[in-house]
Amino acid sequence: MPDKGKAAVMVGFKRPFEVREYPIPKVEPGAILVKMLSAGVCGTDVHTWLGHTGGKVLSFPVILGHENVGEVIALGEGVERDWTGEPLSIGDRITWPTTIGRYCYRCYNCVVAGIPNKCLNRRTYGAALSCDKPPHFTGGWAQYCYLFPETAVFKLPKDLPADALVAAGCAAPTMIHASERAGIREGDTVAVQGSGAVGLFGAIIAKESGADKVIVIGGPRERLELARKWGADHTIDISEVRDPEERIRLVKEYSIGGQGADVVFECSGVPNAFAEGVRMVRDGGTYVVVGQFMDAGPVEGFHPFWVTFKHITIKGSYSWEPRHTWRAVRFMAKANSKYRFEDLVSHRFPLEETTKAVEMVRDWKVVKAVLDPWK
Ligand SMILES: [Zn+2]
Ligand SMILES: [Zn+2]
Repeated sequence: MPDKGKAAVMVGFKRPFEVREYPIPKVEPGAILVKMLSAGVCGTDVHTWLGHTGGKVLSFPVILGHENVGEVIALGEGVERDWTGEPLSIGDRITWPTTIGRYCYRCYNCVVAGIPNKCLNRRTYGAALSCDKPPHFTGGWAQYCYLFPETAVFKLPKDLPADALVAAGCAAPTMIHASERAGIREGDTVAVQGSGAVGLFGAIIAKESGADKVIVIGGPRERLELARKWGADHTIDISEVRDPEERIRLVKEYSIGGQGADVVFECSGVPNAFAEGVRMVRDGGTYVVVGQFMDAGPVEGFHPFWVTFKHITIKGSYSWEPRHTWRAVRFMAKANSKYRFEDLVSHRFPLEETTKAVEMVRDWKVVKAVLDPWK
């Protein structure tokens, strides 16, 4: 094993990434060291770099990257299996959720509320720890990643390409969680607002979860073509249908029974989509708000009356838990021969071009960008 490895290091908001070398850490009992195979550039990384997420959860200098697949190169004492009980050996490919170690199971949210995805003591890979301090490799944009004891790791099936999982990235567990929140049933009409990675994955998950009709509202055209290729029955291009009233009317027209969608997912991140989405839900239906991960401001023209009068359920869905990471692996293993998510990777960048990678994602110039630390 070499004694040093490279990492792309974020030294400050909007500042160019620097490639730095750090010593490879010793693996403590319970920990795992992986050689990184593929690391995605997620929209959240771009927001982090631009400073939209604030500095609260960041420790500079920091290695970003939380859509990760790595190859096990060292197992700490006592690590013999992944979190489903599968035997784990050197050479296996694994993925892991963003949470460092275990949720605390000592805070109100973990213990009483039962929502460990909102653990009050949660720390994440690719954000919480400064890479100046050992074990240094605490984000995916590097040649190695150090996985602390009790991190939920899952082995990839042999025939699932690392790039497929990374290309689906955060969108997969995000929407698997949101779909669980929504409780999609056979015969449902599901409308998805937004056709970014999360929205497109939402359409796939809805269809594969038993939805009868799937409607995607978004743009640009190429994205909607992809949505149709992946199973959307109808798409509504917001650059063509500019009037929200008309979009609501179309969702009702496309819905089975003509009353609106049983389930609507908000995956756009645009505040005003909320006022529109509530009215796309049928009476008694469910609206799951997934896309408002950053505070983009208030909603104009929202009538709380709609919620009562339509007797609807509105739910938020924040991040995910290890079980959704595992379900994402299983879903991809089952469905990837059909969707071939690895084909979405349109750009591969060496660590030296991390700044360019992040800028291109910011400017919507890539379908999916991954960092290849060995390029
Ligand atoms: Zn992400
Ligand atoms: Zn907790």
